[in-house]
Amino acid sequence: MALKSPRFASNRQLQQAAVNSPSIMRNTVGPHVAILQQAFIDLGMDMNLSTKKGPPDGIFGGETESRVWQFQARTGLVRDGIVGHGTMTKLDELLPTLGPPPRPLPPIVMSHKLNVHMRSIAMPAVPEFTQLKVMQDVFAQYGIQVVNLSGQSVGLKANEQLALTVVDGDCQWDQVSDEQRLLETSGSKQFVGPNDVTVYFATVLREKNGKTLQGCAGHPPSQPAVMIASTAVDKTTMAHEVCHVLLGSSFAPVHVNEDANLMCAAPVCTGNPAFLGVAQLNRIFASKCLVKIA
Ligand SMILES: [Zn+2]
Repeated sequence: MALKSPRFASNRQLQQAAVNSPSIMRNTVGPHVAILQQAFIDLGMDMNLSTKKGPPDGIFGGETESRVWQFQARTGLVRDGIVGHGTMTKLDELLPTLGPPPRPLPPIVMSHKLNVHMRSIAMPAVPEFTQLKVMQDVFAQYGIQVVNLSGQSVGLKANEQLALTVVDGDCQWDQVSDEQRLLETSGSKQFVGPNDVTVYFATVLREKNGKTLQGCAGHPPSQPAVMIASTAVDKTTMAHEVCHVLLGSSFAPVHVNEDANLMCAAPVCTGNPAFLGVAQLNRIFASKCLVKIA
């Protein structure tokens, strides 16, 4: 099937993508990618990273991949982040001319739910609900609704208070120190489902080498939980740590500084909002912590 929209029809690579020979995917570079990026802008999606220097940069990186996935989700296509027959045909249909489409794209449907509970023994530098809102915005972009089911300021006994002034323990997956265990058993467990994620706001988190952490996603296997230090200054700290829980311990790469806007790809995500790559999304949607709602 030949593409009809002049913006796409005039490009050979896009014509080829429309018949999957080949499709266009991450790490492709060229004017055809810039045409796709402009199409997503015209459809109302922001391409802040790809347009940092002005016009769309034609680099199919994490942001573009994320937008392809979102476009597919919003138009009922297979969500793989790859521009092939289905995606090209739909773009051609929705953008018959240059400029914005005759009809706006449907919003993304919230297809999954993630329940979280917040337990706090500290006054975080970035308030609990600010971090929660940032996390909700990150996941909502992909149809994941983060629901805060309960919040509680945890009252500690004097000896517990003393023990948890600084939570010592190396942040390791599936292993927790005595202090981490004490924190993760503090507070009410009422209404906390087995696949709900509990977010503990701690005072200071310190590893054996003396290094302090903004957060840690280490938790006993049967109890999805993260810890956030009151000293954490990044608004994305909760989103980052919870993302680790959803990705699981074996997901790679994390913390490689691949892309500062991609959740968990860098030690600190500076995205506003941050995005998730398709490899991450595939893993996240397979997490037992997500509940399908639509
Ligand atoms: Zn991390």
